[in-house]
Amino acid sequence: MKTQKVPRPQSLLSASAIMGFYRQFPKVLHGGLSSLNSLFVMPVRSTMIFSPSALLRCLPLLAVLLLPGCALFEEGADLSNFHTVVLDPGHGGYDHGAHAFRGVDEKMLTLDVAKRVKPLLEVRGYRVIMTRTTDVFIPLGGRTSISNSHPDAAFVSIHCNWAGRRSANGVEAYYFNPHSAPLARNILGEVASCYGSHSRGVKFARYYVLHHNERPATLLEIGFISNPQEDASLQNPAVRQRIVEKIAQGISKIHGGHAPVAVTGS
Ligand SMILES: [Zn+2]
Repeated sequence: MKTQKVPRPQSLLSASAIMGFYRQFPKVLHGGLSSLNSLFVMPVRSTMIFSPSALLRCLPLLAVLLLPGCALFEEGADLSNFHTVVLDPGHGGYDHGAHAFRGVDEKMLTLDVAKRVKPLLEVRGYRVIMTRTTDVFIPLGGRTSISNSHPDAAFVSIHCNWAGRRSANGVEAYYFNPHSAPLARNILGEVASCYGSHSRGVKFARYYVLHHNERPATLLEIGFISNPQEDASLQNPAVRQRIVEKIAQGISKIHGGHAPVAVTGS
């Protein structure tokens, strides 16, 4: 199948390139910088990389960035042909994600939301695969591998936002490849105002799970658990149920609310 190349970070083999790549990320709200560092970019000082031991310490980072391989997006991977939805509850295990103002942390909220979305999508005729069903750590490359191994999939990563400024609030959705923007827009349009929050917009971001995804993919931030009001809402199971119904509506919107009939045959 013909593929379309997606821009990749330039050289990954120098400290300046790594730091430049790091700086390309938008303001890190979800999970905070410390969480992103632990998951994605190990803390790297530009001076230490030139010693052999420092290079060894950077190998996991290079492996994470290089081994998952192609940052290619399938040419035919548009929104009209997905029958499988890969739900990706953010974080898990030792990676708690964002800390809630009060209540359970991001990793548990995202897992609960994904578990609630699954049956709603199945009722609509989709096959649903979850990147995790328990409180376990799944590497980012493992999450995209699941998505990339299903040529009829769309990928939806679920997160809760966090900011040092407690007044920050709102719902936002990210995409990397422009093909994925409608998916992000559809979900955000349904979720944004369903529990008294508001839309912060659909945004481009180089998040790993989007950048290394060959399928339509979006990362949804359902609200700020650093904000006392939004956190109180998101900690409420009844509110989460309202949110997941909107997520399911948003995902299926492109198909009029129900999965298209799969084309089978020899
Ligand atoms: Zn997160």
